[in-house]
Amino acid sequence: MNQAYRRDRRRLIEALQAGGVNDLAILHAFDAIPRHLFVPDAVRHRSYEDVALPLGYGQTISRPGAHALHLGLAGLSGEERVLEIGTGSGYQTALLSQLAGHVYSVETVTELADLAAERLGQLGLANVTLRVGDGSTGWPEEAPFDVILCGAAAPRVPAALVHQLSAGGRLIIPVGDDEGQELLRVTLEHDGSLREETVDVARFVPLKGEQGW
Ligand code: SAH
Repeated sequence: MNQAYRRDRRRLIEALQAGGVNDLAILHAFDAIPRHLFVPDAVRHRSYEDVALPLGYGQTISRPGAHALHLGLAGLSGEERVLEIGTGSGYQTALLSQLAGHVYSVETVTELADLAAERLGQLGLANVTLRVGDGSTGWPEEAPFDVILCGAAAPRVPAALVHQLSAGGRLIIPVGDDEGQELLRVTLEHDGSLREETVDVARFVPLKGEQGW
């Protein structure tokens, strides 16, 4: 790989560390997955800045710092079945593949899903399954999931997603509209109760579909 990208990526990892990301597995995933393969040509030179970048189709690849936060909240140990809603570029899918057992990812925009499939295929990531469709109702055929990560903001926590969590499972989802959003973590406790934590303010593209906007 191009030396300049390697250097930029090192700097990004140092910036994430300086920003408080200290989970070595997460930092290792950022080191293992080349973000520049997942962004359009026009913005490729900015691949390792901690900024969101346009993907086309009105969508964006999130800021690496936001991905790091979500991955931290997911609390992955390497064995989990993970559902990602909003494959987008496929970058977070690739990060997740390094940190979980198997990643299921669903995207509504066919063109983005096709591009993501191509990139993930190039990297030879075998523990990823992609689907085109509405992820707002989850992926019932593959449920339950230990972690569900939603990369788009919903009007409210979709009940269908909570129902697809395993005992102890975590749903990480931004909730809100253009005016304001909160990042929530909903945990299905082993006694069957739900624990909801507001972790951060957020700014994500809207979740479309049956349980979306
Ligand atoms: N985390 C990804 C993309 C985030 S953008 C990355 O960093 O590249 C959010 C994505 O969610 C967009 O690609 C959008 O098309 C997709 N999306 C929106 N509503 C969806 C739905 N109901 N089901 C699946 N994907 C959806």
